[in-house]
Amino acid sequence: MRYLSTRGQAPKQSFLQILLGGLAPDGGLYLPETYPQFSAAELEFMRGMDYRQLAFAILSRLADDIEPNDLKALVDKTYTTEAYSHGRMDSDFSQIAPVRKLEGDNDSGLYILELSNGPTLAFKDMAMQLLGNLFEYALDQAGQDINILGATSGDTGSAAEYAMCGKHNVRVFMLSPEHGMTRFQQAQMYSLQDANIFNIAVRGVFDECQDIVKAVSNDHAFKAKYRIGAVNSINWARVAAQIIYYFKAYFAVTGDSGQKVDFSVPSGNFGNVCAGHIARMMGLPIGKLIVATNENDVLDEFFRTGVYRPRTSAQTLHTSSPSMDISKASNFERFIFDLVGRDGERVAELWRAVDTGEAFDLNAAGLKAKVAEFGFVSGSSSHADRLATIRMAWEKYGVMIDTHTADGLKVGLEHRTAGIPLVCLETALPAKFEDSIVEALGRKPERPAGLENIEALPQRVEVMNPDAAVIQAFIADHAND
Ligand SMILES: *Cc1c(COP(=O)(O)O)cnc(C)c1O
Repeated sequence: MRYLSTRGQAPKQSFLQILLGGLAPDGGLYLPETYPQFSAAELEFMRGMDYRQLAFAILSRLADDIEPNDLKALVDKTYTTEAYSHGRMDSDFSQIAPVRKLEGDNDSGLYILELSNGPTLAFKDMAMQLLGNLFEYALDQAGQDINILGATSGDTGSAAEYAMCGKHNVRVFMLSPEHGMTRFQQAQMYSLQDANIFNIAVRGVFDECQDIVKAVSNDHAFKAKYRIGAVNSINWARVAAQIIYYFKAYFAVTGDSGQKVDFSVPSGNFGNVCAGHIARMMGLPIGKLIVATNENDVLDEFFRTGVYRPRTSAQTLHTSSPSMDISKASNFERFIFDLVGRDGERVAELWRAVDTGEAFDLNAAGLKAKVAEFGFVSGSSSHADRLATIRMAWEKYGVMIDTHTADGLKVGLEHRTAGIPLVCLETALPAKFEDSIVEALGRKPERPAGLENIEALPQRVEVMNPDAAVIQAFIADHAND
């Protein structure tokens, strides 16, 4: 399998060749040259597989430059019940990504796909845990090491740290706003004691953290000398790992592979729902892909109007589903590439506008109508909607959901089709967003076993000014530890 860039100007590469890099050299994102296809007969065969077998069946088509025995070992090491047993006390930990039916719903089946049982209680673990093992494998093979630099407002940073902690040849330098995360999120990250994890709390806001990462990445000499890498959401391996659970959920809620299933996906950077799009392109009978946003509705606006209007960070609101507070959806370019018939020049032209903060409009080219052919619909929620949905799920189904999953359930139900099962992706556990749960339900969410007193653990964090030079000096000091 070769990977090409969405802007059409970069050499084609293999899975391992693109694994450790970020953007393609032409500024685009990598996608398979052609999507592997699973026929109806193959789908019927896959129906009986457990998560590891499914992961191998799918990834072996996408990462065919990894020796099959090695890939199998990587998959088996990643998807263990031990790694994915941190969720609700009543979850079925014998399964990776269990599907929960919302009982009492009298239509054709309403489900929550539980993706938050990994170590950091959010769906990003599903992909990041695999990435950690893939990085270690690729670096060992190449005899290299890497210093991962990232900025986080919560979920990404902790998922990256729990995936990379203890891995050889990998160090993580994670910037977070000093006062920008919940106490629980801070405790999750800062209580890690592994020597290869460096937490840096920046006296500033998330955007300043991100600006420092950009400044360091643009210092090409520094970047090369200290082998700076990233694990951000445009990483192809992360998208690839997310494809697996769409298959898993599809088989869990259908009796045969002729049936369609709709998926509702709380969305920010468009990585999660992009994986659904690719699963559909690979032959999985997905009906609708429902893109749910919060008040930061750049994606909802596009799917409703055909106009993509990126926002500035000043226009980005702080909401009660903070992991979806984005102004530009970095993975969106991957879908647009398919929508415009894989015309790289066209994508490059559109993103020349986006990169300067301008909007683009696909109505004139007649492409708005094509969006529906790919199954996409959308909607958004307000803070009040999320609280009402959390209450509804609790009262009607006895299930406590977090604010992000509430976005997805609210918008999913608005697009429900009679006779078609609807799977809502759970992207975090309520324990991560305690204050909103207390606001909605007047009670605290349960904490998974072992995390009851996480805030009391000793913390390892360096507090620094928002100054790239200071942070570069710190990296230089520790890059060879
Ligand atoms: C990252 C995240 C999202 C958004 O996922 P994308 O892949 O960026 O669209 C939604 N919910 C939670 C809890 C997240 O951490």
